[in-house]
Amino acid sequence: MHVDADADLHDVFRILYDGDEWASDNDDEDAGDEQQLGEGVQTATSTEGSIHSRRYSKARFVTALDALVAPSSTPTVPAKRRIYAVPQPTSSVISSTAPLPADLNGKTYAPYSPLPLLARVRTFPPTFPSSLPGLSPMTLALAGWTYAHGGVVCASSSTCEKWGLGGLESLPSRSRDEVVRRLASSLPQRHTLECGWRTRASPATLPTQLRRLAHPLVTASLEPLAAALQARSIGPEPPRWACPVSASQLATLAAGLERYAAAVHGATLAIDPLAAALALFGWYPYDPVAPANHVAEQEHGHGHAQGHGHAAHTDIVACRLCLRRVGLWTFTATAASSDEERKFDVEGEHQ
Ligand SMILES: [Zn+2]
Ligand SMILES: [Zn+2]
Repeated sequence: MHVDADADLHDVFRILYDGDEWASDNDDEDAGDEQQLGEGVQTATSTEGSIHSRRYSKARFVTALDALVAPSSTPTVPAKRRIYAVPQPTSSVISSTAPLPADLNGKTYAPYSPLPLLARVRTFPPTFPSSLPGLSPMTLALAGWTYAHGGVVCASSSTCEKWGLGGLESLPSRSRDEVVRRLASSLPQRHTLECGWRTRASPATLPTQLRRLAHPLVTASLEPLAAALQARSIGPEPPRWACPVSASQLATLAAGLERYAAAVHGATLAIDPLAAALALFGWYPYDPVAPANHVAEQEHGHGHAQGHGHAAHTDIVACRLCLRRVGLWTFTATAASSDEERKFDVEGEHQ
């Protein structure tokens, strides 16, 4: 009697809940289901019945529950088979120990790429008037313009005409302001209809992206730079310097970098506040004999630095973005300088 009642209940259960799929207690089906999930391939020929069983099988419930607890550890969404391989994401930052690429692709029409923007900005000479509102080298570079042969030329298309800012200085200031305003508002229209820059210029956020890319404010990048500066550029007679970051913040930064050096390299490193400030504002030790726009990993600590020819002491620091080079000796107390209060402004010296 007992067994019959059980069987009856089982039948009712089957009728109500489509029992064959629901009561899939056998391990084979679950294993098969999991395998199917693992492979991540959705069969195109699934009938309505098999869709049903996939939807209500125990394996799917278990997978869904697992996904709630630990989303990353389980293949919750079966990846569909793709025709094209998904490109691997490249590193989104260039650490201080990695060089900037030599070829920045300045001529490519790539309005959303930071490195081509850097290439375009770099074509403008330091003598280029940067005080004109709306016509700074960065504004022009964002609009797809570069500097060549004494004029402003399109970065990507030879059909766009060259133009220049010659003669602006000789104009009376009121009419000059008007000319500058009109020039600044016509930057897209100066490209021809075939040129991509006319349709889409670089977004205004691209300089910030470029800074984050080439000077990431993470300890893993700042620490090797600060260590190299400490070993190579902080001499017995430090320069007078100014920094917009407060002394206590710099001390915190230096302590953090020292902790990182101890944890990662096992090195006991004393980081001077000046080394921390220089690293924070993107200054690199610059050796005219072996110029490099990055610091080598082996520049950690004084002992290691002596062994390598390229890690010689240098009083010059350089920015790898704006390429400004500064001799630290010009700011020391003994330097024969007329103005006593001249300080190395770690932020303002960038050009
Ligand atoms: Zn153009
Ligand atoms: Zn700079």
